[in-house]
Amino acid sequence: SDAEEFRNRLDGKTVPEEALKKINEELKKLEMLETGSPEYGVTRNYLDWATSIPWGIQGEDNLNLKQARTTLNRDHEGLDDVKARILEFLAVGAFKGEISGSILLLVGPPGVGKTSIGKSVADALGRPFYRFSLGGMRDEAEIKGHRRTYIGALPGKFVQALKDVKVMNPVIMLDEIDKLGASYQGDPASALLETLDPEQNSQFMDHYLDMRLDLSKVLFICTANQLDTIPAPLLDRMDVIRLSGYLTEEKVAIAAKHLWPRQLQKAGVKGRQLKISRKALRDTVECYARESGVRNLEKQLAKIVRKGVVQLLEQPDESITVTPENLSSFLGNPIFRPEALMQGIGVITGLAWTAMGGTTLPIEATRIHTLNRGFKLTGKLGEVMRESAEIAYSYVCSNLEKYGADKSFFDKAFVHLHVPEGATPKDGPSAGVTMASALLSLALNKKPKANYAMTGELTLTGKVLAIGGVREKIIAAKRQNIKNIILPEANRGDYEEVPEYLRKGLKISFAEHYDDVFNKLF
Ligand code: ATP
Ligand code: MG
Repeated sequence: SDAEEFRNRLDGKTVPEEALKKINEELKKLEMLETGSPEYGVTRNYLDWATSIPWGIQGEDNLNLKQARTTLNRDHEGLDDVKARILEFLAVGAFKGEISGSILLLVGPPGVGKTSIGKSVADALGRPFYRFSLGGMRDEAEIKGHRRTYIGALPGKFVQALKDVKVMNPVIMLDEIDKLGASYQGDPASALLETLDPEQNSQFMDHYLDMRLDLSKVLFICTANQLDTIPAPLLDRMDVIRLSGYLTEEKVAIAAKHLWPRQLQKAGVKGRQLKISRKALRDTVECYARESGVRNLEKQLAKIVRKGVVQLLEQPDESITVTPENLSSFLGNPIFRPEALMQGIGVITGLAWTAMGGTTLPIEATRIHTLNRGFKLTGKLGEVMRESAEIAYSYVCSNLEKYGADKSFFDKAFVHLHVPEGATPKDGPSAGVTMASALLSLALNKKPKANYAMTGELTLTGKVLAIGGVREKIIAAKRQNIKNIILPEANRGDYEEVPEYLRKGLKISFAEHYDDVFNKLF
């Protein structure tokens, strides 16, 4: 009978007293109920969940660091600092004898390998892996379950996870923890804290089961694109590991070693039937897949493989090699051209940083007419960015003489400052020095030095203040082959933390005051 089966399921499990009492009560009830009655169904369902929990069952951790390193290296190219951090984390666990009480947070732009690193950690430990996204969640009940009085009530995601993985100590990955937000019913931070916090989660309460579960042996790995929107009490308890965007060479290496072979294998094509040259891979990156991560690159390679397969079917004896020359016959016209940077009077390259990674941000200033004084701004700029444009304008207006420009220049200049591309929203104070430089270049009627990019907040008195995302910005500059970068002096420490291979070939100058920017640029 059903009741018997449920009882058997508890064999070998260590059910806590409170839960056992509840299960036994329900079992008794089940045996008294009419098999066909709705009540029977509800009770049966409940027991099905309650007895599927792997009460007290724990897999052994494999805390062999050498093997963990091998697993991480097998699945991932580069990412040396991330791998090192993960290994440290595992080493601490090995030392203590268990990995619990910590929450890892992998943060970085889309497609840089966060999910994939998380999976490797589970592999390395020999723990089952369960993953779900918090991004679409609207309701606390998805985490903590519905009360049983609801028709069609279900337990929350964590109970579902435990049922699935059959141990109490899996690796559970919570994707998009930064997107759990406003539209959520109830208090997302406290619901999650109760789940993740090692101080509270040995007593995690699921509303459907109406029992306490011990989640303290679970290793939680969260992923996010940015830190800003993560509630502070949660963030406080996490070990944050940052992943950044990839350089062109890194993407080519990842493609050659991982993405391309995987696509071939998926399509059942042999490496000798369909080849791609290193140069063609590089062109694929530069002309079709410029973003920080490699997910779109993977899609482009899949597209090449699909087209290749068609050709192979038509001419089975041939082998195909994709080269820079025939690349566009696989991928169509290039989406990006290896463009020259925008240059000229009033045009300056800034560096910006968003949840999608770093990018270069050109800023243009022109004089529209000389009938009167005025200033206008376009480019879908947020409030903070508009204000920093006004600061830049005021600063340049009041210091024209100092920098050798006609002090009445702006009296007869209606100036337009634009930040392309016009449709992409932008915000933040870090383009202050860039906007000031564009305006000054205009006033001086002088071209800035070529191959420079800059970032820094500007104050009314010309001080240059620290900005965020140094590493992402450096990567963005390198991707565009920019060699000279001006950073705020206050970010020197951040720059020194950027790995050596990223700093190679760059000339960095640090600015404390706008004077320092001016001296480099003009
Ligand atoms: P999102 O924020 O969009 O969820 P993500 O950071 O989780 O992105 P993944 O899904 O882990 O990205 O990575 C996308 C793809 O790129 C995967 O197929 C992954 O294996 C591959 N990949 C990313 N980085 C590397 C790397 N360094 N070496 C090998 N493969 C990589
Ligand atoms: Mg992911």
